[in-house]
Amino acid sequence: MQPPAPIRLLSSDLQNQIAAGEVVERPSSALKELIENSLDAKATRISIQINDGGQSFIRICDNGHGIDENQLELAITRHATSKLSHIHDLQKIHSFGFRGEALPSIASVSRFRIQSALVDGEGAYLEVEYGRIIGSGHVAMPQGTIIEIRDLFSNTPARLKFLKQMTTENRKCTDVVLRFALSSLDVELEFTSSGRDIFHFLPEQSLRQRLCAVWPPQIVQNLHKIQFSENSTSISGLAGDPSTAQSRSDKILIYVNRRPVQDKIILSAIKEAYRGRILGNEFPQAILFLEVPTDEVDINVHPAKTEVRFQNERDIFRNVRTGLIKSLEENSKQIFSGTKTIGLSRPQTNTDSLPRDITTNDFHYTIKPSISSIVNSDQKFSSSKEITELYETQGTSYEVSQAPHKLPDVQYENDIKYLGQIANTYLVLSDGDAIVILDQHAVHERLLYDVIRNNTSQTRQPLLTPLELSLHSSQITHIQDIWQDLKELGFALELTSTLTVMVSAIPSLLTPSNAKSFLSDVLEDKNRNMADLWSVMACKAAIKAGMVLTPSEALSLVDAWRQLPDRYHCPHGRPTAIQWNKRELEKFFKRRT
Ligand code: ADP
Ligand code: MG
Repeated sequence: MQPPAPIRLLSSDLQNQIAAGEVVERPSSALKELIENSLDAKATRISIQINDGGQSFIRICDNGHGIDENQLELAITRHATSKLSHIHDLQKIHSFGFRGEALPSIASVSRFRIQSALVDGEGAYLEVEYGRIIGSGHVAMPQGTIIEIRDLFSNTPARLKFLKQMTTENRKCTDVVLRFALSSLDVELEFTSSGRDIFHFLPEQSLRQRLCAVWPPQIVQNLHKIQFSENSTSISGLAGDPSTAQSRSDKILIYVNRRPVQDKIILSAIKEAYRGRILGNEFPQAILFLEVPTDEVDINVHPAKTEVRFQNERDIFRNVRTGLIKSLEENSKQIFSGTKTIGLSRPQTNTDSLPRDITTNDFHYTIKPSISSIVNSDQKFSSSKEITELYETQGTSYEVSQAPHKLPDVQYENDIKYLGQIANTYLVLSDGDAIVILDQHAVHERLLYDVIRNNTSQTRQPLLTPLELSLHSSQITHIQDIWQDLKELGFALELTSTLTVMVSAIPSLLTPSNAKSFLSDVLEDKNRNMADLWSVMACKAAIKAGMVLTPSEALSLVDAWRQLPDRYHCPHGRPTAIQWNKRELEKFFKRRT
């Protein structure tokens, strides 16, 4: 057997090259480190040039405080930093850098030049090739620092191989510049890529002005201001209106104490705040700046410093969520708010005589479809026996005169006027100069969701003919998991054989066919919690798109809906109503710009 290789201390070059693997993963991470250094040096003007996605060339020039000629060599020495001298300093760090790793790492995997001047005219430079100094001298330059990196990773082919296409590396560099541009509004920033001017941000621009360079104006206009503080944490920034949510998650930018970070806790708090306002597969735009006392956040989690760890994650989560919700609520478009009256657009002889009731005084709160519309809309109920059964199972037989909702008497003087139903799905109303369109299903769903949520134990209706469900074995396990929840919702269930469940009572909000479809839906995928069950139930019980509503039904529905405090989205996050005011209509018809 061969003797083992002796243990040796790695040369400093090799140490740096290995460290570079973590600190500079790609050109954009090198660029990030350089911008951080310029900002730490209190630069007010930074100009950046890259070629070929940063791989062949990066140059950054700042007007910061500069580096003393005698310290240039230290600047590219590993673990040498001017920003930290004691471990306790880590708890009160206000600079981006503190590890003293970036410059030596970059210089070890590239052809590198640093030149710097403490005062105008008197600069010095160092030339470094793959970690070795190959030249030094004096140079005339204004106060500040210029760093040039050529042929990044050309001595580490393994790393070079992992770089993506030039366009991707280019985009990543652009993203990095933008991230800092958005948090350092007082700094002028110029960015050129392969000779093309990409950004020129002027000092003292607002966040919105800077965002206009990259996001469509329609999105920027619809960003709402966030300003919230609780105990020692403060949150500021801008959050997108739910109506402009989109399918990509890359428009959520998070900063902690000005440092751009990626953070799962803050991200999930943002998602929570938008929950119910946007769809499950959508993401909002948000730029959040968190200010947290430096001793309550650990920034030394990873060499790239893009992750942080909070001492009190719960508080951070709660504050971000609360701050965002507050901003969204303050800025949500108010539709039919206040004490306006609501009525038909023209006097109606009340011949439609309320075939269904939308009761608000007991918690049925439901539009019970008339017998004829059940036959039309639900083919499963084709025999009249079943229909009779359905109404008998509802406890009392259905009578038109029971409907308690009273139509407003004066029709012409109402502020809000019902104009009609479009595509048997959308209810069109006018409110002064504004036009409002509601989705009847979404509106009713929202309404029922609240009813269900506020009545933890639902009333149940026994079925004359119990439903028998034949299930797969996996569904049996699943139904047992939510057995108690289903009982609370009003179901009476019994396992009659290993694979059969007998349903002898259902929630009174559902018809037997709705109940069946509810159960098959909730048994389809696992991990449904109670709130999911409520929303599926609301969906099943709600009037559907394509159902004809009489004006009085439509009015009752809208009137009940507008009493809800949180009404602009259905439980799945789809909008319930849209509104255009005169101004918006004028813009749309290009009467005004
Ligand atoms: P760190 O930023 O963690 O201290 P770096 O390797 O990035 O480590 O930089 C090493 C040192 O070089 C810094 O502490 C700083 O003193 C100096 N330095 C780097 N870049 C600049 C710059 N643009 N302007 C002034 N000083 C700089
Ligand atoms: Mg640094």
